[in-house]
Amino acid sequence: MKKLFIIFSLFLLNKSFAQPVTGNLNNKFVLVIHGGAGTILKNQMTPEREKAYMDALDKALQTGNEILKNGGTALDAVEACVRSMEDNPLFNAGKGAVFTNEGKNELDAAIMDGKTLAAGSVAGVTTIKNPVTAARAVMEKSPHVMMTGKGAENFAMQQGLEIVDPSYFYTENRWKDLQKAKQQDSLLQLKDSGNRHSSLKQPENRDDKYGTVGAVALDRHGNLAAATSTGGMTNKKFGRVGDAPIIGAGTYANNKTAAFSGTGWGEFYIRLVLAKSISDMMEFGKMKLIDAANELVMKKLPSLGGDGGLIAVDKDGNIAMPFCTEGMYRGFIKNTGEKSVKIYKE
Ligand code: ASP
Repeated sequence: MKKLFIIFSLFLLNKSFAQPVTGNLNNKFVLVIHGGAGTILKNQMTPEREKAYMDALDKALQTGNEILKNGGTALDAVEACVRSMEDNPLFNAGKGAVFTNEGKNELDAAIMDGKTLAAGSVAGVTTIKNPVTAARAVMEKSPHVMMTGKGAENFAMQQGLEIVDPSYFYTENRWKDLQKAKQQDSLLQLKDSGNRHSSLKQPENRDDKYGTVGAVALDRHGNLAAATSTGGMTNKKFGRVGDAPIIGAGTYANNKTAAFSGTGWGEFYIRLVLAKSISDMMEFGKMKLIDAANELVMKKLPSLGGDGGLIAVDKDGNIAMPFCTEGMYRGFIKNTGEKSVKIYKE
């Protein structure tokens, strides 16, 4: 009898150890990513470049899928996806970031946990290889939410994160973009000072293609998370910070509503507190994700003169990917295996 009891206890113990520490593998998960919105036109793209983007998006999706499939957390998935795109020079985040007016790469990133509303972000950093990981360290290893510049870099170093020479972020294409932007800027100044350049198109002091990266996920535990990382906008000046690291503007997650990551003309996302506004419309206005997201991205944003896009997934796994630009690098994958990677407008 005693023997039986011991065997039964061992069986129970074994069962409790065998419990999936990682969550119920039958529950659904959804992962959505973006690699920036903007004037992305098929007729301006070579087949090779198009393939490179599709492959990079696919790789990021696979990275996150591996994590979510095995019961990993939404936080781990969005961080891993964003890191994968930060390491790819095609995107305006990490290596491949755009240049400031002073010829530097100043990076912004944020991450948010929808379960606890914990959040972390870094802004204007120049030596942290993966700013999204620094943002997560701010969230988990400090009492703060946002760190900037040198302070953020010192913190990242203390946390043992990978530090690189600023030259690591240099890419020739982005350098050329800066020279073009500067040229347009000085032409505009000439125009403003009375010279006639009537054929000049108003450069509006902004890029017409944004390459920010972001990821949002619903994991098998029912938790949401969002992450965004960017070099900001070409030719930005005076320590400009965009919407990506501003919690509620370009990045937001709340288990009661949805997880969001934006890409576009950041100043407008900040002024509209875009992601949090959508979340509030869902939470307090009882709106559906798709309706609230369309209201902000397709109506409010352009009505103020801004543009861009957004990815989101709600607590039930519904996806929204609205953009009011020509295109947006985007993709999603679900536990069912359903997968999509797209660039242009439908
Ligand atoms: N939203 C970013 C910013 O304004 C730019 C982008 O999406 O590429 O910094």
